[in-house]
Amino acid sequence: MAEDRTVERLDISVNTPAGPVTVPVDVPLHFVPVATIVSSMRRIGEAAQALEERDMVAHGAAISCKKGCAACCRMLIPLSAPEAFALADAIKAWPVDQREAALARVADARAQLERTGVLSQLYEIAESERQLDDDTFEPINRAYYALRLPCPFLVEEVCSIYDDRPAACRELLVTSPAELCQDLERNPIRPVPVPLRVGTVLALLWADLVGGPARFIPLPLALEWAERHRQEGGRSWQGREMLERALDKVWWYLSREVTARQRASQSSSSRGQARPRT
Ligand code: SF4
Repeated sequence: MAEDRTVERLDISVNTPAGPVTVPVDVPLHFVPVATIVSSMRRIGEAAQALEERDMVAHGAAISCKKGCAACCRMLIPLSAPEAFALADAIKAWPVDQREAALARVADARAQLERTGVLSQLYEIAESERQLDDDTFEPINRAYYALRLPCPFLVEEVCSIYDDRPAACRELLVTSPAELCQDLERNPIRPVPVPLRVGTVLALLWADLVGGPARFIPLPLALEWAERHRQEGGRSWQGREMLERALDKVWWYLSREVTARQRASQSSSSRGQARPRT
């Protein structure tokens, strides 16, 4: 097979809280839109997550999530802008009937959100010009989850965009019994720790590339958001430069995560030392 001279293969090594990972990525040698970096970032995130899962299993836990269980597909899923553009591109490439069925489900979900008054809040998130914090997201997440609205890409309890699903969906795994996920707010769920939130990395990258806040777009609005912002989505950056800027965000995120875990373990061990002897 002829060598592809439009990309260069690089091995990316990062230290994650569960150990080091090295991931080969193909970097375009020309100017490319931001959606092209999504798959490389996902690969790094999945390698880090796999180490985390291996660690959990080695300590006797079992992952409860499996095909056909879609209880968590009723939560509000946030996407970064690069992921929204990548998803829109993927769906544009689908056969017409499949694409139209997906668009009809999205329109249906949108109508339900409008009837319940949640849609306007989702628009505010998607188009906000200021950086939103967890306190802003919290009541909107709760209002959305209260609807138990199935994700518009869920078909017969199976994800119809599995290979293109957002990072937030890939990162949600639990070791608690699957039936507890029927009510994620009231039940004691044990999530697998997430070493690297790829959606956050990509949101930070987008903010770095075009300015503005690290933006998150609610999944039911992702396709129309990508369409509304298609001019920005069509802008291009040199492949190597975009990768380096994305890796800066990866390293920043991982160092923050390592520090947070060290602090948590120090505080739990100091609590243990303070415990009176029995
Ligand atoms: S994109 Fe797929 S995995 Fe994510 S919430 Fe929707 S159906 Fe579930």
